[in-house]
Amino acid sequence: MASITTFRVGHCTHPSCMVLKGSGLASRCFPSRAYLIETRAGLYLWDTGYAEHFRAATAKGVYRLYAWVTPISFEAHESLQGQLRAHGVSPKDIHTLLLSHFHADHIAGLRDFPAARLMCSQAGWDAVRSLSGFAAVRQAFVPELLPNDIADRLGFVEGVPETALPAALHPFTTGRDVSGTGEIYIVALPGHAVGHLGAFVLQDSGWTLLASDAAWVPESFQQLRGPSELSFIVQHQRAPYYDTLQRLHQLHQSGNAQIRITHEDTPDYVAVAGRP
Ligand SMILES: [Zn+2]
Repeated sequence: MASITTFRVGHCTHPSCMVLKGSGLASRCFPSRAYLIETRAGLYLWDTGYAEHFRAATAKGVYRLYAWVTPISFEAHESLQGQLRAHGVSPKDIHTLLLSHFHADHIAGLRDFPAARLMCSQAGWDAVRSLSGFAAVRQAFVPELLPNDIADRLGFVEGVPETALPAALHPFTTGRDVSGTGEIYIVALPGHAVGHLGAFVLQDSGWTLLASDAAWVPESFQQLRGPSELSFIVQHQRAPYYDTLQRLHQLHQSGNAQIRITHEDTPDYVAVAGRP
């Protein structure tokens, strides 16, 4: 069985009503998470959260817009590689870094894992690979965050055959076993970004769905309450977004899997000295 360790790697703030309709203008904190998944096939990471590279890459040109629209907080002691080292894991120990999508707050630490194999959706990669300037910022994509050799290290989940998931995970019926051990199944969670992915992980305690940005707050899938309509300026497509949210809601109601989302404001992560 796999085990998941959750790291909080920086955060940003937004008005609540942007992420949950009708919830007012009060500012809400959105931590960025990275998950270490230990499997029989090796160590996997699910996303990276923020990193120092984000500050440098958004300090110039049109990319300053990103930092202006999304004020972030990231302290040196929150760096993912530092937190992993404190946990006894060196960046070179990571077998595969799985990318849910290419928004900057999920990939900012890629350059800190120069030896890891990278895996994402081919559709997601094709949608961003040639973007730069304003077209990139509009999609929350900052090209400078990508390692120079990314094309050589990138594999696509579409290359892994789809197999049936246990009936208990209904309405999710198929996934791609990227671990090859039945411990991590990748599923498409369309709507938030092109090629946006989630992962079912099997631990001793049962199934967990790492649902990335399919919702920004747990109330969304618990109560079927979507985000502000304005959010669809940056999100990919409204209809598939709500279809995905409906499936998360059904899974939540079944009680057969825990659902974790990247930006939920819950203290489920490893404690770091110096953080309140
Ligand atoms: Zn995103």
